[in-house]
Amino acid sequence: MRIFQNPVLKKLVSKCTSYKISICQASLRQMSVLILLILFLSSFMIDNIQAASLDAEPDTLTVQKVMLNGNESGYVCDQTSAEIIMDEILDEAATRFNMEIADGNVLSFEETSISREDLSTKDVLEGSFRKYAKILVNAYTIFADDVSIGTLKSEEEAQQILNNVKSQYLSDEEVLEDAQFQEDVKVLETPVNLTQVQTMEEVEAELEKKQEAFEEYTIQGDDNFWSISQDYKIKMDDLVKMNEDKDPKKLREGMVIRLSYPKSILNVVTKELTKYEEQIPYETFTEKDDSMYTNESKVIREGQEGKKVIEANIIRVNGVEKDREITSEVVVLEPVNKIIARGTKKEVTAASIARGYGKFKTPTSGRITSRFGKRTHPITRRWTMHSGLDIANSKGTAIYAAESGTISATGWQGGYGKRIEIDHGAGITTLYAHLSSIKVSSGDSVSRGDLIGYMGSTGNSTGPHLHFEVRIDGVARNPQKYLN
Ligand SMILES: [Zn+2]
Repeated sequence: MRIFQNPVLKKLVSKCTSYKISICQASLRQMSVLILLILFLSSFMIDNIQAASLDAEPDTLTVQKVMLNGNESGYVCDQTSAEIIMDEILDEAATRFNMEIADGNVLSFEETSISREDLSTKDVLEGSFRKYAKILVNAYTIFADDVSIGTLKSEEEAQQILNNVKSQYLSDEEVLEDAQFQEDVKVLETPVNLTQVQTMEEVEAELEKKQEAFEEYTIQGDDNFWSISQDYKIKMDDLVKMNEDKDPKKLREGMVIRLSYPKSILNVVTKELTKYEEQIPYETFTEKDDSMYTNESKVIREGQEGKKVIEANIIRVNGVEKDREITSEVVVLEPVNKIIARGTKKEVTAASIARGYGKFKTPTSGRITSRFGKRTHPITRRWTMHSGLDIANSKGTAIYAAESGTISATGWQGGYGKRIEIDHGAGITTLYAHLSSIKVSSGDSVSRGDLIGYMGSTGNSTGPHLHFEVRIDGVARNPQKYLN
């Protein structure tokens, strides 16, 4: 029954309010018209007409005691006026909240006699009704794992709140369906008292408030944000944002940092299918090369990183990556492994020779006739520096390379006669002089112990012998220090 707009009632109400006239008196005027009509019609059929209420004595009235939901609420002359007031209250609530009101109220009446002054005014009756009325509405409650987290006036509002929570964690390309709640979330229609209905703003504010603890981590050793972000698969940006109160450069052992955004009542899981390229690192292989010294190496083939295309589902909880499910991995470019040749020959350097390591092979056999150092020259008879070691034997005695190297010079050179120079690298050269014949040419590679020529007495020489020199960075050194 919705008769709030009834002009008659409006008039009645205004009179009651203005003059504080009892509802019974006010409604009598309206009622009398109706009752007279009934009397008029029924007088033809009914003999005994009881019209007690009409010829009420001035001080005692037969009235209706009004009970709302079992609570005594007042006295009226007729039930209709009480019903009108009740409807008015429900209508007013419905208008105010723009909701359908479920009328779960029970108005009951009991005939009784009271004195005129005990009749209820409209104000009194309204007051009682507001006190005892159950203004039930069909609202929509959001449940997360069976816990109520808010009651909205419509399913649309409830859904909107849930969508808003999800949207926070969706990128522009993603749609709502890409987000799920970790919790079992339901929106159920529930009859509630109007006072329990919340606005969207109230529910959202509460959702933000009700956050549980952060996941935390205690800094150990030389942990830094980067290593932590790697270990816990948290984006650096997120880690920094979650720990805005901490200076990333001043992390110290024992400090506690946050590893998560606070866990909320509602937690959103998103699964983003992404496609990205990843480098495939190349490996480096080393090959042995006996043509080079141990301190030498050369790149035989440069390495090249490969490339793969990965498709993965990035699973995030409240925007923080928790897991990555790789669904496909396609190598689009194989890596090319790097190959390095590393020498195996023992390195001959001034330093290594001086340490007694990698000594030369004695280049020929024979008798030492003159050592390195100052001496009286056998021909000039002058006190001069002898820059090599003389080993005498018969002409044609084989001369061998003292160490591997490259022939850097051959042929006649002044007092040396026929000579050979070998460059061993690392600033080291050897010289073989007074030869009778030469068996190698400039640019030839020779190995330690290779035959390179024969003993003779060419140049300034008193008889067949080998004059052997060791030069380090162009300076002649005592060969005996470098021979086995
Ligand atoms: Zn000599």
